[in-house]
Amino acid sequence: MAKRDYYEVLGVAKNASDDELKKVYRKLAMKHHPDRNPDDKASEGKFKEVKEAYEVLSDPKKRELYDRFGHAGVDPNAAGGFGGGQGGPGGFSDVFGDIFGDIFGAAAGARGGRSNVYRGADLRYSMEITLEQAAGGHTTEIRVPSWESCEVCEGSGAKPGTKPKTCHTCGGQGQVRMQQGFFSIQQTCPTCHGSGKVVPDPCGTCDGVGRVRKTKTLEVKIPAGIDDGMRIRSGGNGEPGVNGGPPGDLYVEIHVKEHQVFQRDGDDLHCEIPISITTAALGGKVEVPTLAGRAEIELPEGTQSGKTFRLRGKGIKGVRSSYPGDLYVHVALETPVRLSDKQKKLLRELDASLQDPKHSPQTKGWMDRVKEFFQ
Ligand SMILES: [Zn+2]
Ligand SMILES: [Zn+2]
Repeated sequence: MAKRDYYEVLGVAKNASDDELKKVYRKLAMKHHPDRNPDDKASEGKFKEVKEAYEVLSDPKKRELYDRFGHAGVDPNAAGGFGGGQGGPGGFSDVFGDIFGDIFGAAAGARGGRSNVYRGADLRYSMEITLEQAAGGHTTEIRVPSWESCEVCEGSGAKPGTKPKTCHTCGGQGQVRMQQGFFSIQQTCPTCHGSGKVVPDPCGTCDGVGRVRKTKTLEVKIPAGIDDGMRIRSGGNGEPGVNGGPPGDLYVEIHVKEHQVFQRDGDDLHCEIPISITTAALGGKVEVPTLAGRAEIELPEGTQSGKTFRLRGKGIKGVRSSYPGDLYVHVALETPVRLSDKQKKLLRELDASLQDPKHSPQTKGWMDRVKEFFQ
């Protein structure tokens, strides 16, 4: 299912203020909060959606990324990368430290530790691609870790011939009650970590975990226009969940290699081309590279160094753009080197013929400014 726009989720305008966001969020979150709607899956989904939208839009950095790149620019589940990203039970424990502490504090305490089903951690895969691949899209295969049920113990974690036993600490419940002062608190069983079972003789192949780490090949389709630092999500290809929880996601992080000719700036491209003083003075056709092949620009007579020419539509069409950007060609004058005596003589003769200031308006303007400066 496609993700809904965060502004739409909260029902606010794109330019909504922080206060406005906070107000709307508070209202929606209270309405859909799981403690108010027990066993209501639709409300729980809404609550998570609202919370996710608020978490992104209330953070100026994330909001900016979201405004630029949409859901591809931000994702709330990949904070930790390898090994990180495990949400608490149900994934909304962190809200309570926020603006809900006062309203739902008591209920939150009761929720913690009720369930030991955790979503698996997200994985991050760093991929380097060329600018051409980023511009035109690219399909490739990557090898990522995967976990398979251990063949030796058939996933039980127990040495063949033995069986996991019911945990004696919790009697198989996975939870224990602890007395703290006047309060009785339910906690994850420290012996079996919530599974309700212990393995007295662990399987040697998987160390009692019940699964072994392998690798699998995934096909990754990189959309045309992707930019450096963007991420692609592959749902469910992260680490497996704990106690039957859903797996995490895999995030492919894109790094675009430096190009030998072009520099990218958003959807635009820039390049520099050297031209001779003769071409600069007399004008003429100059060949310029574009991502789509060779192109030609016509330099006018008297082109100055640093002059920029724009080739409309010869940039990159971004992932979320309707039109491609432009290519900016920056002209750099090349001063001739290793001149023969004859060439030097010719240049001096030419120079002598250029004494009239009308041939060098920049120099004249500059000299006038310098004169003013010293007065
Ligand atoms: Zn095993
Ligand atoms: Zn136990």
